[in-house]
Amino acid sequence: TEQTLGQLAEKSWSRFDDHDSVFYEGVWHRSHALAERARRMCGGFAAAGIRPGDRVAVMMANSPEVPLIYQALWAAGAVVTPVVFLVGVDELRHILTDSGASAIVTSPELAETVRAAAPELPIFVDTAELEQAQERGPVGRDAGDLAALMYTGGTTGKAKGVMLSHGGLWRVAKDAYDMSHQEGKNRALVPVPLSHAYGLIISVASMHATEPQQAVLMRWFEPKAFLKLAAEQRVQYGTVVPSMLQLLLAEPLEAHPLPDLAYLTCGAAPLGRETLAEFERRMPGVQILEGYGLTETSAVTTFNPPGRRKIGSVGLPLPGYSITIRDGSGEAMEMGDVGEICVSGESLMLGYWGEHEPDPDGTALVGGELRTGDIGCVDDDGYLHIVDRKKDLIIRGGFNVFPRDVEDALNQHPDVVMSGVVGRPDRRVGEEVVAFVQLRPGGTATGEDLIEWARDRVGRVKYPREVRFVDSVPVTSVLKLDRKLLRTWLD
Ligand code: ATP
Repeated sequence: TEQTLGQLAEKSWSRFDDHDSVFYEGVWHRSHALAERARRMCGGFAAAGIRPGDRVAVMMANSPEVPLIYQALWAAGAVVTPVVFLVGVDELRHILTDSGASAIVTSPELAETVRAAAPELPIFVDTAELEQAQERGPVGRDAGDLAALMYTGGTTGKAKGVMLSHGGLWRVAKDAYDMSHQEGKNRALVPVPLSHAYGLIISVASMHATEPQQAVLMRWFEPKAFLKLAAEQRVQYGTVVPSMLQLLLAEPLEAHPLPDLAYLTCGAAPLGRETLAEFERRMPGVQILEGYGLTETSAVTTFNPPGRRKIGSVGLPLPGYSITIRDGSGEAMEMGDVGEICVSGESLMLGYWGEHEPDPDGTALVGGELRTGDIGCVDDDGYLHIVDRKKDLIIRGGFNVFPRDVEDALNQHPDVVMSGVVGRPDRRVGEEVVAFVQLRPGGTATGEDLIEWARDRVGRVKYPREVRFVDSVPVTSVLKLDRKLLRTWLD
């Protein structure tokens, strides 16, 4: 098993007979043709002077080329540095400088942003040029070598490079696939960005799959397109984040039955119990399987396996990970006690790239263990439950308010699509609880209605004292609630 992702990609290409592999914008792409393109891209990178260990940024929206570029770079021994296509010039410049990228692969519509951020950097616009080269197989690397440098923390501070190894990514992808895979369910709808850890691990998992995989790729999530594609292409499972489910719930789901869809894996942000229950009620036959993870754990740490799921929990640790809950002083706590979630295991990140100031409420590697910055507990059966993030905690008049509880309550209101709760500095109580709310079209709830609704559910301490209506609650590139942006809307 001491292999690199380049070698594993090479093996995976010839494993199955030629089949329809990736569907994108109306066209199915065949597996053998894709494999040949990846081998040519590998030759193209080598011919362009990309050497083992070089960081190469990939800034593209989802397309069939993205996983091929990753595989080609791994085969060339390079380190993949995915960049979300939505980032602006400043953030891109930070990533390129910090990583010391040797080159960037992008698409024509993003070339201008790239040139503005790094005028001197070699750019591959499109993969056509790379694909002119001779085919080439993988170069030798070690499983412990760096495979990906993934930038995270954009929503909480300056983005840091998370160093993930070939062996670590492979182990997590394999375990996550084995834990979630249901026999005969091989056609997936992929609306999450492949540039995020969640998407990267999906790309790696498809190389391990024991049955030929088919991916229906979306360039970008949009609820109507999701329902249409899922029905037309008869997808059998999918990978989503909670806000996608919330946005889907605002659609007439009953008019779009998806009889082939068996399950959706869901993670990356808190999933309200009500959201899960309503979705399953209105979309019979579909199970939501929740998992939890961080970029630092290659996207997946725990997962609810089909048949053994526990609703309200984020599941059981992957076989390669173990979880310890620690109190404020770092002591391990008893089963069931609520504290900081800490993860250990060999597939953890190698560390952060470069030097960084320690962030007391942030994620950190301490003595080989990952302090996640998330608060939660492990129950008697070993399932992990998430309470919230340490840094999102609002302290109102000395009481702890977890925004997630308030958001869950508000999201249950029939007129609410989504909400985001943050603390506004307040002289009297320290921090005041403020909710930003997106109503469904035609929703008539007033601020007072929602305040009262929340007070009935979360009690007299935690309820929001102020509700502000917004056209849409801001989200990040993986459609996570963007609290950093919300906080700037306070004044
Ligand atoms: P950014 O780069 O925007 O700062 P981030 O800090 O959210 O992103 P990620 O690595 O993308 O970084 O996400 C990890 C975090 O996502 C976890 O620390 C946790 O707070 C949250 N998370 C992931 N899955 C779940 C889940 N199932 N329930 C609740 N929270 C989750």
